[in-house]
Amino acid sequence: MSHLLAEKTWPELQKAIQERTVLLLPLGQTEQHGRHLQTGADSIIAERVALATAEKSNPSVPVLVMPTIHYGYAPKMVAQWPGTFRIRWKVMVDYVADVCSSALLGGFKKLAIVSTHGPHGDVARLAAREVFDRTGVGIVVTQPHTFALPVFKKIRKSKLGGASHACEYETSLLMHFGYPVDLTGTDARDSVKVCNEWVAGDMAGSGKVSWSTWDLQTTSTGALGDPSCASPETGRQCMESIVEEYCRFLKYFREMETPVR
Ligand SMILES: [Zn+2]
Repeated sequence: MSHLLAEKTWPELQKAIQERTVLLLPLGQTEQHGRHLQTGADSIIAERVALATAEKSNPSVPVLVMPTIHYGYAPKMVAQWPGTFRIRWKVMVDYVADVCSSALLGGFKKLAIVSTHGPHGDVARLAAREVFDRTGVGIVVTQPHTFALPVFKKIRKSKLGGASHACEYETSLLMHFGYPVDLTGTDARDSVKVCNEWVAGDMAGSGKVSWSTWDLQTTSTGALGDPSCASPETGRQCMESIVEEYCRFLKYFREMETPVR
């Protein structure tokens, strides 16, 4: 059975609303991901995570996957490589808020954004504020890498700085999904150099301030991190952890009663 919202009729969606179905919105991006990785990496990961979660979670916790958002905000300097699309961040906040508000005003009560592209964390959180003010319903912003982190920290082969963009983590996931990825010529040269108490730099880092890595260093390949350490097995283990954590969270999210406004 399909778990895609766009493959349902409106009476089917009405039934889904009565069953208190949770919506997942994959929020991806199309942009350069180094010399070795597909430009759609962020969209692919967001969609795969949402679909795999829906597969595992249904029918005990009903989940439907909304159509993926494939274009988004990227810093200007990322557009020096082809394949990077840039939607102004203000437009993105409004766009994501309009998409989510439509779902809620149509009757759905629970919606979680699955955001895989770093800068979209900020966009999605601002959109969530706007949606809450408009509809009185709070939506949730999730980022799969946070669910992968405990496992990834244990199995990663790159040093701190190796996991940021088109890195060991993202490359491993695409390899696990079966995309053709040629690691020839990849190495640690574009690893993130600034990872310290102030600046996270790496997805496993914890900085006290928010400072874009794109401002702190250059990259020759477009990647930030060390994709040479990537493997399908790392991707498989990360994905397993991500989907398990999503299912666990969505169960909690669905059962959580919030005040009616
Ligand atoms: Zn990415």
